[in-house]
Amino acid sequence: MDSTTISSNGFTGNAGEVALLNSCHTTAKARILVVDDERINRQMISCIMEDLGHDVVPAASGEEALEVMKANEFDLVLLDFSMPGMDGFDVMDAMQDDVKLMDIPVIMVTASDESELIVRAFSQGASDYVVKPVDAAVAQVRITNQLNLRQAKLELWESQERYALAARGANDGLWDWNITSNELYVSPRWREMLGYSDSAPITVDKGWMDSIHTSDREKFERALRNHLDGYSKHFEMECRMKSSGGRFLWMQWRGMAVRDQDGVAHRFAGSLTDITENKTADPLTGLPNRVQFMDRLQRCIEVARRDLSKSFAVLFLDLDNFKLINDSYGHEVGDQYLKTIAARLIETTRRGESLVARLGGDEFTLTVEDIDSPQPALAVAKRVLRILSAPVRIENQEIYPGISMGISFAEFPDRSAEDVLREADTAMYEAKSSGGKCFKVFDPVMQQQARKRLNTENELRRSIENNEFIVFYQPLIDLKSGLMCGYESLVRWNHPERGVLSPFEFIDVAEETGLIIPIGNFVLEESCRQLMKWRNQSDAFDDIRCSVNLSRVQLHHFECVNWIESAIEKTGIDAASLTLEITESSILDRSGRPAETLERLGDLGLTIALDDFGTGYSSLSCLHELPIDVLKIDRSFVREMLTSSQSEAIVRVILTLADGLKLKVVAEGIEEETQHGFLKSLDCQVGQGYLYGKPMPARELFEFCHKRNSSTAT
Ligand code: C2E
Ligand code: MG
Ligand code: MG
Repeated sequence: MDSTTISSNGFTGNAGEVALLNSCHTTAKARILVVDDERINRQMISCIMEDLGHDVVPAASGEEALEVMKANEFDLVLLDFSMPGMDGFDVMDAMQDDVKLMDIPVIMVTASDESELIVRAFSQGASDYVVKPVDAAVAQVRITNQLNLRQAKLELWESQERYALAARGANDGLWDWNITSNELYVSPRWREMLGYSDSAPITVDKGWMDSIHTSDREKFERALRNHLDGYSKHFEMECRMKSSGGRFLWMQWRGMAVRDQDGVAHRFAGSLTDITENKTADPLTGLPNRVQFMDRLQRCIEVARRDLSKSFAVLFLDLDNFKLINDSYGHEVGDQYLKTIAARLIETTRRGESLVARLGGDEFTLTVEDIDSPQPALAVAKRVLRILSAPVRIENQEIYPGISMGISFAEFPDRSAEDVLREADTAMYEAKSSGGKCFKVFDPVMQQQARKRLNTENELRRSIENNEFIVFYQPLIDLKSGLMCGYESLVRWNHPERGVLSPFEFIDVAEETGLIIPIGNFVLEESCRQLMKWRNQSDAFDDIRCSVNLSRVQLHHFECVNWIESAIEKTGIDAASLTLEITESSILDRSGRPAETLERLGDLGLTIALDDFGTGYSSLSCLHELPIDVLKIDRSFVREMLTSSQSEAIVRVILTLADGLKLKVVAEGIEEETQHGFLKSLDCQVGQGYLYGKPMPARELFEFCHKRNSSTAT
């Protein structure tokens, strides 16, 4: 059979035509898989394809075709549709399920011009078809079309990708890395950002990889490998790069690999954006942020390591009651306040010797550098406290800044920047715990305390889940009648190993972490429920009132009133039987949310008591303006009132004041008969203390009440 004869069910071929067609099309040499169960057809088609300069691999069945396709790369498949076993449709199905094969164009070869079959083949993903007997010229045109189309698609995708990256911003630098040849193109803007001249040779190893900060390099390389291996769709990375001048800049990389049909990346292109400013400046105050501060600390440490006489200190500042100011006056005033503090901090320091930064929220830091003793840093600390403490006036509000400050000295050269900062933070915390408005120098003992606190916090979280809290009840005695008139509910932590713990062991941590909210709500509900239970059991509880402590954290929360309403609703207690005890410090500001919350609670018919009265800073006007019904004289005055004339005077003043303001008074901490007698003689209405009864479990209080109220004579 020569090449121009026609086979009955095969191919017609004409070498001349084919050669002409071949010269018209510029398709590069392609790898073509010819699948046909008829040997003669396979040979014919293969022969012509080879004449056209293509590489041909024949396959005699659908099964064989798939096997060969999986093991090799093909640009096109000529597929006979009617084959025994796996037919053309089955092969196409299998190809659609394989990412490696799904994009290969398939030209189907059908025995006849059956339109139904052709439509079905197209719907299954065939790119074109030829009918047996196949005309060589027609087949070649169709093959070439498909190959050209495929090439165009690839090129379009590549150029679109590159265009998209380029369009992302003229301000960005662009790069394009040909992975196969390892050639790197970087745009003029790329060079400019990093300070390289137009002629400086930039390669992947030199100028790119080696300029990435050593601390970021591993992360960068890992992300790059992941992307090139196909595990991430886009490459995105923020890292520091050293400019030719030696300065580190924060750069954002965005890019995408161009892959061949096997998913192998052969090109990687993208953009580079300088984000140093966003990364290192605090947008509100314009001060350097944590990132820049840590960089500076790192440099200070390196200097100190080289020259031990060049030490430095870190000052860590936190504003006292900032949250209160934000909540009471609003965020705009809060922002203004932070800006004023930032400006004052800059004033207190000499440029170059210190770096002032805002770490976030109300936390500021500054370095005091090039010092050989603690003295200069202590002097700066005092100056900062003095200058920052002057009142700040914003929109008719006068704010008296309170600053808590911690100082750490870089005494041991082996510590990291994080260590030094953490120590200053720990010392600041100590300053705050001791009442604020002062500074503390870090001492390793503080670290232990901080660890203990963290431990308590973790344990507290666990204990809430395990319901380890219980409520004790301490009787309140009507001093005139001697009868029990109420009780104060006091929380206890029934610790699985340490036994029953006093609130002093955990209340502070619970307040700092917000865990006081679930704990406080539990105490509130439990004590209301308990009173209702007692009232059901005995008439003796009809007039008994229940007092619950409300933490400043609860009082400042916008849900506070809801929680209390819900406890009342759930337990069925009447609001008039419930007293909430708040401390003076929680109503430091007489405006804002706490005041509003108190008003609403008063409207509900609840009684509000000011706890530990006399120890805080409440002014007379505060008692006037807020809906307070009861003052609880702090037990420190009761303890000393018979031995210290000052304490006695305070107790007398409080009672007189309360009388004038029509407030009721409860005296706390009565331990002796003489104290009881003295308070009674001054017409103090209610007493609480160990003399009558310590805080006790519910069952004991029930008995206490019965015993006391049935046996006590007036
Ligand atoms: P507080 O509200 O002033 O409660 C009175 C504290 O004085 C109780 O301490 C009580 O046991 C103690 N006390 C009473 N009488 C005497 C006495 O005669 N002598 C002496 N030395 N102490 C007496 P406790 O139970 O250890 O509670 C300490 C503080 O913890 C409470 O002071 C309160 O501020 C807080 N607290 C207790 N339970 C809760 C709670 O459920 N929520 C909140 N937010 N705070 C609570
Ligand atoms: Mg109390
Ligand atoms: Mg108290």
